[in-house]
Amino acid sequence: MQQRVVLAIDIGGTKLAVGVVDEEGRVLEYRRAPNPNPPSGEGESVYRALLALVEELDADRSDFVGVGVGCGGPMSWPAGEVSPLNIPSWRGFPLRARLAEEFGLPVRLHNDAICVAVAEHWRGAGMGVDNVLGMVVSTGVGGGLILGGRLIDGASGNAGHVGHAIVHEFEPQCRCGAIGCLEAIASGPNLSAWATGQGWRAGHPDEQRTGQDLVEDARRGDPVALAAMRRAGRALGIGIATATTLCDLQVVAIGGGLSQAGPLLFDPLEASLRERIGLEYACGVRVVPAGLGQESGLVGAAALVLRPENYWSADK
Ligand SMILES: [Zn+2]
Repeated sequence: MQQRVVLAIDIGGTKLAVGVVDEEGRVLEYRRAPNPNPPSGEGESVYRALLALVEELDADRSDFVGVGVGCGGPMSWPAGEVSPLNIPSWRGFPLRARLAEEFGLPVRLHNDAICVAVAEHWRGAGMGVDNVLGMVVSTGVGGGLILGGRLIDGASGNAGHVGHAIVHEFEPQCRCGAIGCLEAIASGPNLSAWATGQGWRAGHPDEQRTGQDLVEDARRGDPVALAAMRRAGRALGIGIATATTLCDLQVVAIGGGLSQAGPLLFDPLEASLRERIGLEYACGVRVVPAGLGQESGLVGAAALVLRPENYWSADK
């Protein structure tokens, strides 16, 4: 290959994805495979599956100028020792160092939701806008914050983690230990659990119930599923109102499975948001669905390498 391309890696609990991304943020090719994700113990099988997937790419290792990685948190950043909640066999796994050793290239790694936010700013719904919150609402609620055209990392790489913005004073308990977090209300599993408690899909006790099922039932007009979308939308509106006023945002781009509900989620979100912002500078904020699809994690990971002036503040 003649052009500068990056090996981009997106690591999730169920899927591994690798891709070749060019200077303009185009995904030239990509491969996906299930994450073997053993329940505990030896994390090498996950790493081996990842390397095997890279070998399936048509591009040659010598084509790459660097490696960009998005992975679930928590992680030490920028050291890139990862302990993803949904990959129990990786605890303090030195992913960044292992990849640097393997490929002999610069490796840059960030939280997967931050990579999605970066992609939305670089090539998606936040393109051309300097102040953007990118959010992922799916099995968790995560995000990344771009202010003044630059990714904001914070002290530990966790700035923009809007899932743990507090949206309620008394409930529910969040798995992080705090009370009233946005994620504790609006993540797919938490929302499904709430709906189940309200009688959703009663009479089908063995059925698997995911956020995706909830979205589909809401589309079909199921009253509890619709109420769940309103509940998530209201909580998101509160969290976004706080973030907007605090950070002077212009665009909030929301991706992830729950965002597929469209107006069923976005209408109550808008109503809740508009009730809670009054200052003129905040009222101009636009909340939009993410513009990129499932490749966005790869695009954002590549941007860490290809656009360091905007997206990589750590070691150059
Ligand atoms: Zn929390």
